[in-house]
Amino acid sequence: MKELRLILGDQLNSQHSWFQQHEPHIDYVLMEVRSETDYCQHHIQKVVGIFLAMRDFAQVLSDAGHNVIYISLDDPGNQQSICANLAKLLANKTYHTWSWQQPDEYRLAQALQGFANNEITPSYCVSTEHFLADQSVVAKLFKPGTQHFLMETFYRHMRKREHVLMAANGKPVSGKWNHDAANRAAYDGAVPIPEPLSFANKCQHIVDMLQRCHVKTIGEVSGTLDWPINRTQALQLLNDFISHQLVHFGRYQDALVDGQGTLFHSRLSFALNLKLLSPREVIQAAEHAWLQGQVDIAACEGFIRQILGWREYMRCLYWHLYPGMSESNHFAHHNALPSWFWTGDTQMRCLSQAIKQSLATGYAHHIQRLMVTGNFALLAGVSPSAVNEWYLGIYVDAFEWVQWPNTHGMSQYAEGGRIATKPYVASGAYIHRQGDHCRHCHYDVKAKSGNNSCPLNSFYWHFIDRHFDLLRPNHRMAIVLKNWQQRKPEDKQVVIKQAEQYLRNINQL
Ligand SMILES: Cc1cc2nc3c(=O)[nH]c(=O)nc-3n(C[C@H](O)[C@H](O)[C@H](O)COP(=O)(O)OP(=O)(O)OC[C@H]3O[C@@H](n4cnc5c(N)ncnc54)[C@H](O)[C@@H]3O)c2cc1C
Ligand code: SF4
Repeated sequence: MKELRLILGDQLNSQHSWFQQHEPHIDYVLMEVRSETDYCQHHIQKVVGIFLAMRDFAQVLSDAGHNVIYISLDDPGNQQSICANLAKLLANKTYHTWSWQQPDEYRLAQALQGFANNEITPSYCVSTEHFLADQSVVAKLFKPGTQHFLMETFYRHMRKREHVLMAANGKPVSGKWNHDAANRAAYDGAVPIPEPLSFANKCQHIVDMLQRCHVKTIGEVSGTLDWPINRTQALQLLNDFISHQLVHFGRYQDALVDGQGTLFHSRLSFALNLKLLSPREVIQAAEHAWLQGQVDIAACEGFIRQILGWREYMRCLYWHLYPGMSESNHFAHHNALPSWFWTGDTQMRCLSQAIKQSLATGYAHHIQRLMVTGNFALLAGVSPSAVNEWYLGIYVDAFEWVQWPNTHGMSQYAEGGRIATKPYVASGAYIHRQGDHCRHCHYDVKAKSGNNSCPLNSFYWHFIDRHFDLLRPNHRMAIVLKNWQQRKPEDKQVVIKQAEQYLRNINQL
């Protein structure tokens, strides 16, 4: 009874039960296809990284004695879509059954289920055995009709269920569930920023193949790739993070430093999203470091919250809300992204740094994504679908199940507060407080109007003014709304005019 098993490019989990036995009647298939390289314009490092990791994974399986079929992008027999390649493989009728792991993205889940429904060879779908929370946990945890989901509720449920940082009495080990208040410092130079670990994986052959096949990408790559492409490298990155960055992760999590793109962040998202690492082992490594006294509880809990809380929560919300909410646009924003989002050529220092770094590396840390590029797009009234497309393309870790709830829900507030409790908007004062970009900027962060005034200042109040009625029911916005309401009409007018002038010339900022 021969079986064909499909492995997608983000399902490189060598710990999966599929691979624990060698079964000669099973063939595993991995494929590089145009339907995946072209569904959006990806960063070149993302495509190169995934293809390198897939090839490495195929080799590991093959070396371990498994039967592997690998279809490269330039294979003349490649049908260039996952389902068309499957159809071709199944058409020769040597397989009695075929199977696949549950995709994380809706579009692939739909495509594979649709294909399975029409294919005469019997099939079945199995779990990826990666995530800790079942997709349905949000539906179980929150009452039917819930309009606003709270990450904290989900996180506490997961902490208890997985017994992470929990005392025997069922309470959190430190007496507190959340050490977020200790996670907001600006970088003060008290400790040096560690050099990020990179891997110099040779990749020119993949770059050449993409060029030969005319695959359109964004961003840059040299002849080598810094991202981990197999489990050994992913574990090295995890160990390096636990040894050097975790200790200060919590404290400087929200910091912005000119010329520094990674700070104390782990850069583990690419390895995690490809499933080279399991979230459980990452959480256990952090918890172990705390138990050994290497890091304090605020650092450890702050990091674990990102994995056990945000990452799992965002995935569950994606499956709960998508695709019903995929087109939502709470603020009815329809502007285009400024052209400099594809070059970084703007005089706004915070944006120029975040965008240039994203183009060069395919990476930006959370505060750059949320409070620099995301904040700008929301204040400038950019359409959520344009923002989604940019984020889905530019980051090496961008897969819709995690990108969409973060961009559409958290950053752009496009589904009206189901994911975020308030819009993440800020004036230049926030960027100034969190780092030193403003010191090097053409614009004056203290000025609210005038030619050199920081555009984020007038944009912020323009946003508050134009959405005043929509924001009014949100009690977390009450102080800001009151502040705006109490301003003299002539003062308000100056700020609004300034924002409008900047918005008209957005490509020249
Ligand atoms: C607009 C926007 C878009 C984003 N798009 C993506 C995306 O496409 N892919 C992606 O993996 N993350 C995305 N994030 C979440 C987060 O910014 C990245 O996971 C993080 O910056 C990756 O860098 P890191 O590995 O150094 O993370 P660290 O800061 O070291 O955090 C550790 C890990 O926690 C997880 N994590 C942290 N925050 C989140 C979050 N909000 N949601 C889900 N997981 C989280 C990640 O797996 C990350 O690797 C996005 C955030 C925003 C605001
Ligand atoms: S002055 Fe404004 S635009 Fe310039 S770096 Fe500061 S916040 Fe950014």
